[in-house]
Amino acid sequence: DTDVPLIATRALSAGYGTRPVVSDLDLEVRPGEVVALLGPNGAGKTTTLRALSGDLTPISGEVRWLGTPCHTPLHRRAREGLAYVGERAVFTRLDTTDNLRVGHVPPERAVELFPELEKRLKTGAGMLSGGEQQMLSLARALCRSPRLLLADELSLGLAPLVVDRLLRAVREAADQGLAALLVEQHVRKVLDIADRVYVLRRGRVVMTGTPKELRGELDAIESSYLAKN
Ligand code: ATP
Repeated sequence: DTDVPLIATRALSAGYGTRPVVSDLDLEVRPGEVVALLGPNGAGKTTTLRALSGDLTPISGEVRWLGTPCHTPLHRRAREGLAYVGERAVFTRLDTTDNLRVGHVPPERAVELFPELEKRLKTGAGMLSGGEQQMLSLARALCRSPRLLLADELSLGLAPLVVDRLLRAVREAADQGLAALLVEQHVRKVLDIADRVYVLRRGRVVMTGTPKELRGELDAIESSYLAKN
């Protein structure tokens, strides 16, 4: 049912200890949507993802999964279809194939998604380029057919063509029904594939809309990245 958000927050505050880093957040991501979460360093993007994933317990407010308030921790949400991709999390001493097997992903499926990985299947993940490592991480997440992908700076430090490749894979998965929430520094690139955008500043949503609606604000969004939180 695409009318029910896969994940949504109501007046969510979350942080570390009792001090909220993000406050009063009302966000939602629906099946088939790519949603971008933008904002300067320290705005609370990672904290938001951690609260959505169940890695942080809300200070107040709630997270709803398919309309139902959800108190389950990260590992339970993973079983229910949540995938989290953060810093390139590969086992550097295992080869690409074994990295996939650890994630219960048949190497053939990963190669369908990223043919680039085929010639690297027997290569130690520590020897892969940054882009290949991130393709491996993303393949491990997407090939298990999650319902929700939370991705924290998927494209950090990667070459523009690789960034395009990763974002296109997310877009295609969303076209098949995935709900995706992407924290990205590449504002323009992510706006090319996103359906909606939230801009966070100092732990609050200060702007929201479609990329089309926000085009005129692009300069303001980008310069807010340069300003300190
Ligand atoms: P960045 O792009 O720099 O990661 P962000 O928007 O993801 O920024 P967060 O990482 O969510 O921001 O951090 C927001 C605030 O929370 C910062 O002031 C940071 O110092 C603080 N913070 C982050 N992690 C912790 C932690 N584990 N314990 C205490 N404070 C933290």
